[in-house]
Amino acid sequence: MKIGVIGGGQLGRMLALAGTPLGMTFAFLDPAPDACAAALGEHLRADYGDQDHLRQLADEVDLVTFEFESVPAETVAFLSQFVPVFPSAEALRIARDRWFEKSMLKELGIPTPEFADVLSQDDLNAAVASIGLPAVLKTRTLGYDGKGQKVLRKAEDVTDAFAELGSVPCILEGFVPFTGEVSLIAVRGRDGQTCFYPLVHNTHEAGILRLSVASSNHPLQALAEDYASRVLSKLNYVGVLAFEFFEIDGGLKANEIAPRVHNSGHWTIEGAECSQFENHLRAVTGLPLGSTAKLGESAMLNFIGEVPPVEKVIAVQDCHLHHYGKAFKAGRKVGHATLRCPDRATLDRQITAVETLIQRD
Ligand code: AMP
Repeated sequence: MKIGVIGGGQLGRMLALAGTPLGMTFAFLDPAPDACAAALGEHLRADYGDQDHLRQLADEVDLVTFEFESVPAETVAFLSQFVPVFPSAEALRIARDRWFEKSMLKELGIPTPEFADVLSQDDLNAAVASIGLPAVLKTRTLGYDGKGQKVLRKAEDVTDAFAELGSVPCILEGFVPFTGEVSLIAVRGRDGQTCFYPLVHNTHEAGILRLSVASSNHPLQALAEDYASRVLSKLNYVGVLAFEFFEIDGGLKANEIAPRVHNSGHWTIEGAECSQFENHLRAVTGLPLGSTAKLGESAMLNFIGEVPPVEKVIAVQDCHLHHYGKAFKAGRKVGHATLRCPDRATLDRQITAVETLIQRD
């Protein structure tokens, strides 16, 4: 079976690494000449709106999926005429726009930060008057890794904030004084079969994920699964869907959803019976889903800007290196390490061992 993937970054690369043993082959559509997934399949180098290449992709593959959500809606609509596309155009339409996304979560009774639509500086002033400060202004679309957002702490921060984010549609969110950030990786098959990985505790720096630690028997697991199930059913979702939550007052507030495999699920490659990548492919191709059970204690550390010397990373016991083959550049995710250890004390020691290899800017 040949899978078409929109986007050819590391997520596409890891999808191909998971699908190849299942007999799948891959074609990636990505305008970047150096798309790192290209090493694992055919590379159609074209813009996401290039209908000739989209048509070529549709003709060549059995189905199409995505490795990022900022794909133009027209691209999805065009492809859907010729080939099955999972997740659906509707799921992408909602997940790529923070206003649609938060409105759906609210409608489903899932707690979120307070939020308001902001289409002008006047809207922003009104939203700040009602939500209060501190607050976070975010572009509705195209934001990632903390880009396209600004924390507003005092009145002066508000004055030019709409223009500073490019005078594009935004939402304002109340600032959540969270005690932790967790994510849930969910997967739903074409037949509605659904499963969830253990909640992951995430640490960000400057808006970029640095460390994910998979939990054991997290007290909020059932609540997170309940919230996620509501979204999966509502969207009749097929594939992996990631949920990011803030932990606050012993409960959860949803931050965002991502309609794709997710950075906080990379630990599952070595840390779970069946990885998020394999399970996404199983889901979209209609195969039975694999077990999401955790094998030992697991964590993932991102390498941002550069990968430390390979020989040093792999010298850490229980450590698995994933080098994405991308050019090193400040702020760019270029690799990660997964640790899978027999117990939590060992995991904590090995996290420290990998962290000492990471150069901070
Ligand atoms: P996002 O791109 O929306 O996931 O935001 C990136 C990071 O910014 C999150 O992981 C949080 O650490 C922080 N953040 C985003 N929204 C809020 C909020 N409403 N309140 C507090 N922190 C936030």
